[in-house]
Amino acid sequence: ATSLDTMDSEITKLVELERVRQEEGLELIASENYTSKAVMEAQGTILTNKYAEGLPGKRYYGGCEVVDSVETLAIERVKKLFGAKFANVQAHSGSGANMAAYFSLLEVGDKVLGMNLAEGGHLTHGSPVNFSGKLFKIIPYGLDLESETIDYDALRDLALKEKPKMIIAGASAYPRTIDFEKFRSIADEVGAYLMVDMAHIAGLVAAGLHPNPVPHAHVVTSTTHKTLRGPRGGIILTNDEELAKKINFNVFPGIQGGPLEHVIAAKAVSFKEALEPSYIDYQKQVILNAKVLGEKLQAEGIEIVSGGTDNHLLLVKTDSVNLSGKQAEHALEAAGITCNKNMIPGDKRSPFVTSGVRLGTPAITTRGLKENHMEQLGTWISKALRNSEDEGVLKSIKEEVLTLCREYPVY
Ligand code: PLP
Repeated sequence: ATSLDTMDSEITKLVELERVRQEEGLELIASENYTSKAVMEAQGTILTNKYAEGLPGKRYYGGCEVVDSVETLAIERVKKLFGAKFANVQAHSGSGANMAAYFSLLEVGDKVLGMNLAEGGHLTHGSPVNFSGKLFKIIPYGLDLESETIDYDALRDLALKEKPKMIIAGASAYPRTIDFEKFRSIADEVGAYLMVDMAHIAGLVAAGLHPNPVPHAHVVTSTTHKTLRGPRGGIILTNDEELAKKINFNVFPGIQGGPLEHVIAAKAVSFKEALEPSYIDYQKQVILNAKVLGEKLQAEGIEIVSGGTDNHLLLVKTDSVNLSGKQAEHALEAAGITCNKNMIPGDKRSPFVTSGVRLGTPAITTRGLKENHMEQLGTWISKALRNSEDEGVLKSIKEEVLTLCREYPVY
């Protein structure tokens, strides 16, 4: 028995249940992935015992010489990965990274343009229920409802009219390439900062398969646990030395205390993995899988937002098969396929019901699935959505899903 098992069998049992759930279902939540065992091992080390407030070489505690080297490795690797001059790897999460970035660029009450939550933005880009919407005056921008892609002309008009202090680019549910150069030219025209939150696409950027925001943005934030495939956490990048100092100061002592050096070690491992040539093959397959799945769904008569995808995710219009997003999510869950309901452009239903689901390929690609499996998956999804009330059909799909999962174990 392990130490954990001896000490706390309740937690051991729950971890085992979750392991089985992760192994035996197809994970299509676009923001999730399976980290390597090496990443988890690093996170499970004695580094968790160490207090290290401050930065490498400038700590408020003694005994930091080893964790200094750990954190420096993480910083150097992530700088290389994204071609950035400065990096902070201490942010505990994507939301925290965004908070530190906003506090470095803005005063409370400043005006900011952020992407509409209903059209793909993230809560921290200005939702009224989030700190961002409470502390800053957020003006939402969105999509051209015809093409269902970012309306850069409307964004420019809005920026000229509102004269914001900052524009946020980046999204949680946007299937197309984002033109950071265009964002920067609009920001420059109105004297605004450009902040890019690349959380969803960071892995694609790291592999050179999506344009890199670092040369264009004043500040770039990201999570480390989505396409990037690291441990849960955040990072902040910039090429501007003055901003880098402000960012470090706003992470600590601004919003955090001691950094999680065990998580930073795990981040360092994931950055090393992302610098390997095989990582590019993985990310290419992520994009190819999303493309093939989208084409298959369309061939099955299911509509997807913007008619396709350039990245790791698809937004399925479930009302094209007469289901709400909530109903579709439930039907797919019963068929062994996990995803989340999601608003689609122009959605008339509430965020708790929605008219779509978001599907992503990062996790299923990590477990080894390829184009032929995407064809099969598209067939299962279509069948499940068209038989959403038929428990027998859903159960039989779930059995087929299980067979495939056993053929492609995660760990
Ligand atoms: N930014 C974007 C674009 C995201 O999609 C997310 C998470 O879904 C976050 C930030 C927040 O990250 P975290 O959940 O680590 O706070």
